[in-house]
Amino acid sequence: MPAPWPLTPITAEERAAYADAEPRPYWLAALPAREPSPPLRGEVEADLCIVGGGFTGLWAALHAKADDPGREVVLLEAETIGFGASGRNGGFAIGSLTHGLENGIARFGKEIELLERLGRENLAGYVADIERLGIDCDLELTGELTPSVAAYQDDWAAETAELYGRFGYDVEVFPDAAAMRAEVDSPIYRSGAWVKDAGGVLDPAKLAIGLADAARRAGVHIYEGTPALSIGDAGAPPRGAGAGAGSGRHAADPPVAVRTPAGAVIARRVVLGTSAYPSPLRSIRHYVAPVYDYALMSEPLTSEQKRSIGWERRQGIGDGGNQFHYYRLSADDRILWGGFDAVYRRGGPVGPELDDHDATFGRLAQNFRVTFPQLEGVRFTHRWGGAIDTCSRFSVFFGTALGGRVAYAAGYTGLGVVSTRFGARVALDLVDGRDTEATRSRYVRRKPVPFPPEPLRSAVIQLTRNRMAAADRRDGKRGMWLGLLDRLGLGFDS
Ligand SMILES: Cc1cc2nc3c(=O)[nH]c(=O)nc-3n(C[C@H](O)[C@H](O)[C@H](O)COP(=O)(O)OP(=O)(O)OC[C@H]3O[C@@H](n4cnc5c(N)ncnc54)[C@H](O)[C@@H]3O)c2cc1C
Repeated sequence: MPAPWPLTPITAEERAAYADAEPRPYWLAALPAREPSPPLRGEVEADLCIVGGGFTGLWAALHAKADDPGREVVLLEAETIGFGASGRNGGFAIGSLTHGLENGIARFGKEIELLERLGRENLAGYVADIERLGIDCDLELTGELTPSVAAYQDDWAAETAELYGRFGYDVEVFPDAAAMRAEVDSPIYRSGAWVKDAGGVLDPAKLAIGLADAARRAGVHIYEGTPALSIGDAGAPPRGAGAGAGSGRHAADPPVAVRTPAGAVIARRVVLGTSAYPSPLRSIRHYVAPVYDYALMSEPLTSEQKRSIGWERRQGIGDGGNQFHYYRLSADDRILWGGFDAVYRRGGPVGPELDDHDATFGRLAQNFRVTFPQLEGVRFTHRWGGAIDTCSRFSVFFGTALGGRVAYAAGYTGLGVVSTRFGARVALDLVDGRDTEATRSRYVRRKPVPFPPEPLRSAVIQLTRNRMAAADRRDGKRGMWLGLLDRLGLGFDS
């Protein structure tokens, strides 16, 4: 039995469900109004310049100040804090550093024990930091639930229990449709597995703003509306800056100039957290394909509607398909419903004009009704999209440039809400020349296989997307192309 998605034309009723939705990420729209920090004007000196005001940049700023409160840290954000993926994601806060255990074992086999331990330590540190910094971001540690929605996914629940159980996770299996539907009620569910301690869900925009506030309190200078245009040698070391321990090891190195439209940061070290956006370092672009992912947010459910689906334990849900939906409840019982289509456009453009995509919203609205027919009539209040920094290994990778004075972390591939805290730590350790078990690992030292240049890149990604959709229609049979990629350890995900 194939996946249950109709793939029939979108009806007027289905379109009406989202037609009036505000075309803006719900999380950002729901934030209280705030005045952004003014843009950078003129030249400033710093020990560390961070580019990007998403989770990677914000955690890097907080780690840097925790390492050395005296370090001068400047953060540049092209738009506003949380404008990128960090303010528009599903809010699934999952601890894995490897995009799940299966992918981790397949790609990093020998290091999986280390990466699992580092991932758990990172998740524990993440929860503790949110608490310590007093950030109210509606974090609920409810785990991750994967229902089977097609016969070929049925074995997955038992396999998950075995695999995750072996690594010490607490897994509950719903062995059949009745058990699964008693947990969350959808007529398409056949069985499922709930990894209870995988992480949870949160409000990502509240987290981004909370991290930025904490960074400001720690003395980080944040400039919003300030794109970094170029990064290069600045010449002589900056005067005065650099007393902090973090910069001591290479205190005599020439500084780096990060040029902006109306000024520059002259810094000893630079950390880049620019994700799917065109990086000021062109070399990153070989490894990252910006893939658009779309989501709808429903109006709050009434208590009767909520009762009709159960979902008392409020897990984050992702169905078991190659083309999968992810969905979760918000604090006020809306349903965020996203995924399924992942859209790559030739040349990899990123920009607000790509945030609205009617074809995908139509498909999402249609599949929502198939999943929860009892919620017929529920409308969506927000619709949006965002660029995912997809790389061929599905997990963050790292690199340095300008003789080690610049480091970056990118390529989280749709699972960066928690792992950005780890990515930021590693990027900072690389740029500070710290030797840790993480910086020594192959996971950190190795890069993913690069994507081919255009026009081959879009052709290969499109072919892979088509084959994945076909596999869902054909009882999961992956066929020659996906089989070849599997054997080469390559892939495409969002
Ligand atoms: C629709 C969607 C759903 C997702 N769902 C989930 C999920 O449920 N769980 C999960 O774990 N992950 C999810 N992700 C992925 C997750 O959001 C990202 O991995 C994570 O937010 C990446 O953080 P970041 O700081 O590296 O990048 P971003 O948040 O994208 O931040 C990069 C920032 O850099 C700025 N910038 C770019 N270029 C420059 C420049 N030259 N100068 C200055 N600033 C610049 C951008 O404006 C942006 O604010 C999702 C992503 C999307 C798009």
